[in-house]
Amino acid sequence: ASAQIGVTGLAVMGRNLARNFARHGYTVALHNRTAARTRALVEEFGDEGSFVPTETAEDFVAALEKPRRLMIMVKAGDATDAVIDEFAPLLESGDMIIDGGNAHFLDTRRREKALRERGIHFVGSGVSGGEEGALHGPAVMPGGSAESYAVLGPMLEAISAKVDGEPCCTHIGTDGAGHFVKMVHNGIEYADMQLIAEAYDLLRHVAGYTPAQIADVFRVWNKGRLNSYLIEITAEILAHTDAGTDKPFVDIVRDAAEQKGTGRWTVQTALDLGSPVTAIAQATFARVASSRTALREAYRPLAGGTEHPLRPHEAERYVATVEHALYASKVIAYDQGWTMIRDAAEEYGWDIDLGNVAAIWRGGCIIRAAFLDRIRAAYNTDATLPSLLSEPEFADEITKAQVPWREVIAAATRRGIPVPAFSSALAYYDTLRAERLPAALIQGQRDFFGAHTYRRTDREGTFHTLWAEPGQPEVEA
Ligand code: NDP
Repeated sequence: ASAQIGVTGLAVMGRNLARNFARHGYTVALHNRTAARTRALVEEFGDEGSFVPTETAEDFVAALEKPRRLMIMVKAGDATDAVIDEFAPLLESGDMIIDGGNAHFLDTRRREKALRERGIHFVGSGVSGGEEGALHGPAVMPGGSAESYAVLGPMLEAISAKVDGEPCCTHIGTDGAGHFVKMVHNGIEYADMQLIAEAYDLLRHVAGYTPAQIADVFRVWNKGRLNSYLIEITAEILAHTDAGTDKPFVDIVRDAAEQKGTGRWTVQTALDLGSPVTAIAQATFARVASSRTALREAYRPLAGGTEHPLRPHEAERYVATVEHALYASKVIAYDQGWTMIRDAAEEYGWDIDLGNVAAIWRGGCIIRAAFLDRIRAAYNTDATLPSLLSEPEFADEITKAQVPWREVIAAATRRGIPVPAFSSALAYYDTLRAERLPAALIQGQRDFFGAHTYRRTDREGTFHTLWAEPGQPEVEA
């Protein structure tokens, strides 16, 4: 037994993580259901480090140093259970299984509990950054026991991305916390992508800019507070011309957005937790709606808003307005994500350091961005911050963004340009800042038809109005 870590599941992600471990000096045992993949890895990349290729589960386990550390990188879902069932009987108390696949956090909780009862540490770990990240440094979000992190932490930190010398890996919390946080990362990613897409749409159809001009706008934005990987790649995509047709790439792609499902999980889970992640929900629904071709065909003949691009000097001013709207909406979307993490921490008893979550997302992952430094600082200053908007600097920025933010949404609405993520973010902001909400009326409606009772602003207690009786008297429920 000579390998410090083993990786089973050697498709793109597993193969690159195995190479990443080996490049960091670890001896890596290799296993894959189909042995040809294992052989291919060693043939192609065997000289990058120390690998122990194995073909059977028994040989794989025998190749691992104790306590054994075994990483599963197979297709998420039933395959993960199948692999756990195959290996767990060969392991001993104290051994560790890391699941780096995109598991649902409730599956991770179930698996962790079952394996804990057998003395095996199960570490559900989010891994973000795709194929390239896996090889060169992903953001790693491990859950599981603190004991297992003491052993695995240094290895996972070694292969993770680094920002200012700090690893993009931290122990998130027990059992499913790591996969939960990874899920929310992906939800935020959906929101951020949708917001950027809406900003593009506005620059295209309100300012009348070409994709190439918009690419330049994004390049400038990428030098400021919006600096991020997603803004950077957006500029590159918009500048790209289709070789075959010489048209802007963005014009030859079908406008039906697909998804693998982590955004959907975030929204489903948010409903259960009561977390108002409206921007993530709108982003997810926007993808779904874009793909409903028959519905879109049916609505298309119906009249919408009028469209006339701005004059050049107006367009220039408009770009700055959209930047405000994009930034403000982005702050709201991220804040909603953090609220959801806090809600889950409370629900599941996870001790999650909210500042550390921002810190490890600064590198390796898709939403890596300069402004995460500020989110980290905000939570490091005050771990109990109820919202990013209670931090003075963010609050000040959003106050300054308010007028342009509203202008952008009003202009889009007049022209019939959909901005679901921009407008849901603004509606959320307005909801939270409202002195009084019409929720009071909803409570009245609920009490009227269902005797669901209400609470009063001026007295403690629960009340019901006898709506059908003369004089409609109020009784204490
Ligand atoms: P895939 O999700 O395409 O899964 C393929 C791998 O799973 C192969 O090694 C395959 O073995 C194995 N497998 C499938 N079914 C079984 C089974 N029943 N028993 C044993 N092995 C099985 O691979 P990826 O590399 O894309 O992703 C791996 C994991 O990482 C997934 O959970 C994914 O969600 C997650 N992930 C992926 C990212 C990405 O960008 N692709 C990013 C972050 C996480 P065989 O070769 O024998 O078919």
